[in-house]
Amino acid sequence: MNSSSFLDSLKSKLTEIHHLRDAAALLSWDQETYMPAGGGQARAEQIATLQTLAHDKFVSAETEELLSLWIDKSTGQIQAHVQSELDDTSQALLQETWRDFSQAKKLPSSFVNRLQRECSLAQQVWTEARKNNDFKSFLPHLRTLLALKIEEAKYLGFVDSPYDPLLDRYEPGATAAQLKPLFAKLRERLVPLLQQVMNSSHKPDEGLLTQPFETEKQLEFGRMVLEKMGYQFERGRLDLSTHPFTTSFHPTDVRVTTRVHEKDLPSCLFSCIHEGGHGLYEQGLLPKYYGTPMAEPVSLGIHESQSRLWENCVGRSHPFWQHFYPLLQQTFPNQLGEVLFDDFFAAINKVKPSLVRVEADELTYNLHIMVRFEIELALIEGQLQVEDLPTAWNDKMKDYLGITPNRDVEGVLQDMHWSMGAFGYFPTYALGNLYASMIYDQALHDIPALEESIAQGSLLPLRDWLKENIHQYGRQFTSKELVHRVTGHSLSSEPFLSYLERKFSKLYGFSPPPSMNP
Ligand code: ZN
Repeated sequence: MNSSSFLDSLKSKLTEIHHLRDAAALLSWDQETYMPAGGGQARAEQIATLQTLAHDKFVSAETEELLSLWIDKSTGQIQAHVQSELDDTSQALLQETWRDFSQAKKLPSSFVNRLQRECSLAQQVWTEARKNNDFKSFLPHLRTLLALKIEEAKYLGFVDSPYDPLLDRYEPGATAAQLKPLFAKLRERLVPLLQQVMNSSHKPDEGLLTQPFETEKQLEFGRMVLEKMGYQFERGRLDLSTHPFTTSFHPTDVRVTTRVHEKDLPSCLFSCIHEGGHGLYEQGLLPKYYGTPMAEPVSLGIHESQSRLWENCVGRSHPFWQHFYPLLQQTFPNQLGEVLFDDFFAAINKVKPSLVRVEADELTYNLHIMVRFEIELALIEGQLQVEDLPTAWNDKMKDYLGITPNRDVEGVLQDMHWSMGAFGYFPTYALGNLYASMIYDQALHDIPALEESIAQGSLLPLRDWLKENIHQYGRQFTSKELVHRVTGHSLSSEPFLSYLERKFSKLYGFSPPPSMNP
């Protein structure tokens, strides 16, 4: 067999593994959308079986044998003598597959099993604990999970902090040491900006968004916006779920969900746009690379940059609503017919410190993330004990947002991430916001009259630009390389901060801070 047919056999093996994973993903999608409640236990076992099969197939001796035809196992690099036979994409494919393989190999399968069981148990307990506002019942499970995650970090290995290998699973290459100064810079400007907003005499009336809005019409409007964004329904679906999410089984079958509350217009609207951004990314991956890292998203941070770009940079912008507000008024003439554009625009951009992350506005959102990052870092590094979590949470909320929850359900129990063992996940939301601003600035620079085109309801030029510059590459570049390639700059909080300062000083009628770029 020559080198290209070896590569083909690797690809077909990876494709088989993806079939198993995607079947598991379909079962999960069904669980969140249409599965009858009684099916939960059996479903968890079905998914676990498929995932174990996929894992075992992936870490098998056969995969290792195929990979070692190109990869020098001692260095993890492509062997010098075969490099010339491989194009850039094949090299990246091999390198990234090796990365996944060596990570997966580091975890003993007995450990993976134990972790999976504990996570599934902890999630069930968390759901109950949240219902009953009962942190104490969740505490022993959280303690076990934390110990397991520290064990995982040791298996994976680290130089500085045990937090790093956990973060790396969601944002390859990122470290706590890199995030700390980045977040400190954010805090330095976000907190005073929030203060200025709070001191402003402008008080947008959010009441106009909490009138009763017919749920059917809300869904229809969300669907229409998704279509305008270029989300392809012949390769996707929109369904309802408690928590909106996006899932993909192939670039030709990418599904998004939303939720509809009669008295909360922004909820359905912005979750459609947000998930639509995720969905466009998955639809923009190239089917010819299916099964390989070349048809997988780079990182959660980059994924989130796509959703936040659409949700905030576009979906909460003036040009966007120039086109869509008259349509929204036509859809809801009784509720919005008399409401002025400026009042609507101010309401959807209202800034207000709140207790719940998923309801947070653009300005305060990252403060919620910093609270979580500092806490999980301290937990993993052993500087904070789980029993002290509620107090630590409330102190940090006071410190960052000036408010404290009265009940843990609005505090430490609100997010499911830790119950799933997802420590190191939260920072990717903040990174997504930063990447989104950098990428959108570049799109404004590259696409002539982008804002004018958005104001006419034409969103496809932006989708196509994102596909060409980001989506199609899969994991060919790391997030660091990709962002540098697209924007010419390294990750920075500056574009995001300037954007917020520009936007909210205008909305709230104060002069922007002097540090701001023209
Ligand atoms: Zn998202």
